[in-house]
Amino acid sequence: MILPRARTILCLLLFLLLPAFGFASAYNARPKLVVIVVIDQFRGDYLERYRDQFGEGGFKLFLDHGAYFTDCNYNYANTVTGPGHASLLTGTYTNDHGIMANEWWDPQKKKLVSSVEDDATRLVGIPGNAHGSSPHNLLADTLGDELKLATQGKSRVFGVSLKDRAAVLPAGFAGNGAYWIDGKSGLWVTSTYYRSELPKWAQDFNDNKRGEKYLNQEWRDKDGQLLGTTKPPEGKPPNFFGVVGSTPYGNDYELDFARELITYEKPGSGPATDLLVVSLSPNDVLGHAVGPDTPEMRAMALALDRQLADFFSYLGHQIGLANVWIALSADHGVSSAPVAVSKLHIPAAYLSTDEMQARMNKFISAKFSPGRTAEYVKEFEYPVVWLNQDAFSAAKVKEEDAEQAIGEALKSVGLRGYYTRSQLARGDVPKTELGAKYLHSYSPHGGWYVMGIPNPFNIGDTSGTSHGSPYSYDTHVPLAFYGLPFEPGAYRTHSEPVDMVATLASLLGINAPTHAIGRVLTEALVTRRSEASNPPAQRAPGNTGKIQPAALVAIEGVR
Ligand SMILES: [Zn+2]
Repeated sequence: MILPRARTILCLLLFLLLPAFGFASAYNARPKLVVIVVIDQFRGDYLERYRDQFGEGGFKLFLDHGAYFTDCNYNYANTVTGPGHASLLTGTYTNDHGIMANEWWDPQKKKLVSSVEDDATRLVGIPGNAHGSSPHNLLADTLGDELKLATQGKSRVFGVSLKDRAAVLPAGFAGNGAYWIDGKSGLWVTSTYYRSELPKWAQDFNDNKRGEKYLNQEWRDKDGQLLGTTKPPEGKPPNFFGVVGSTPYGNDYELDFARELITYEKPGSGPATDLLVVSLSPNDVLGHAVGPDTPEMRAMALALDRQLADFFSYLGHQIGLANVWIALSADHGVSSAPVAVSKLHIPAAYLSTDEMQARMNKFISAKFSPGRTAEYVKEFEYPVVWLNQDAFSAAKVKEEDAEQAIGEALKSVGLRGYYTRSQLARGDVPKTELGAKYLHSYSPHGGWYVMGIPNPFNIGDTSGTSHGSPYSYDTHVPLAFYGLPFEPGAYRTHSEPVDMVATLASLLGINAPTHAIGRVLTEALVTRRSEASNPPAQRAPGNTGKIQPAALVAIEGVR
């Protein structure tokens, strides 16, 4: 046990030994490592909802000892995983980075393609010859790419997630590695885009069957209440992603792998600043099934708080938290489940996309091919419709008319309005906040499409809940930073997820990503004067002379 006074002295000494943040520079590895934690489907209000129940060193590292932006919102409409991760790391929206959805229609291949699948690559890490993934659909570069450019490749960049798109898009074009799991087996994979075989440590991780200990477990909250199990359902095909990934064991498994990566790849030990992006998927897997206002989601958030505390403590011991900057955000929020919304007399609805698609095809057929129902709507990923160009061409209908007709069909099945691809490509939207959100959602990928404007709390599923709207429950996400350059406090100024990499690039002394539109969050940065008179470790809010626990983590973690 170190006496409080000794801690203070230790802390001051530590501060004097550290390079002033004013000289922080990616070029000479100051900081040694930037870690970006993305939580899949983690709404901005969760941090306040559970604040009193969080322990030390997890979310409170940001809330009490970091710069925390309370009102961070995506300024676009397509609030789903692929676009969210692309926006966070490119510092701009879909109209620049091109990632409009998790999957879109490919008119040449005549099938849905995922945002990262790449026929030119192969999956690495499991038997077979399945297609791999790459960032080839990205139309803008990322923070990691700019780090690489600035340091002539000396920086090392890694992305880790249970989902391919959430690992690949953040790692950018120049990433050293992106790792995700095979959904059936839970084994970690990568793609020939990065390397032809797994590194030995990752192969060992798979060979040692590190995921198996998380199967056949009971999940209980802290009062012993059974919330779920990871027993694979009998008679169903293997689904590690769904079974383990919908419980806190999924975060354990993912963070186990991230720790293994840190142990063996040693990010933070090189001649330039390295970047690690960890996107934690289980919140999304569970959230879709049960909705945000359930005991399960509360338990998940509280478990994640402890898991993050352990992970940050590990970073402290491996690299020293004073040498690390950590940023926290999410790829999107989520709607309260319509069943919970309706109970409060707020309008909400579950909508069957299959039924809506059938009704739209009848509606369009009556207009363009009376007496014959054709498949004009090829895919409906609520609220976005992908059109069957061949069917419209056969009926001699050109794109703009086809899209407008689909838009009217969307309204006929209960959507509030629509924007067509043609309209968005021309920039033809009303000068409103909502218009700007849809302009930011435009992509040249995906053939002919129409973006329906959903009614609030209207979900394109018949149970659970979802996201993908322009409304606050989907756009509001956490944005927080921990590290020496950040002035601790809660900031209620306007912020967007795209501000994260603009701010980090500025502090690192490198160019922002090619298309970055984010703002440098200057209000949250330590000024040289305040830094000189008030060392960061002592600047925690409510500090009465005692060193705050998070500062101690930083001190004890420094090697
Ligand atoms: Zn997501």
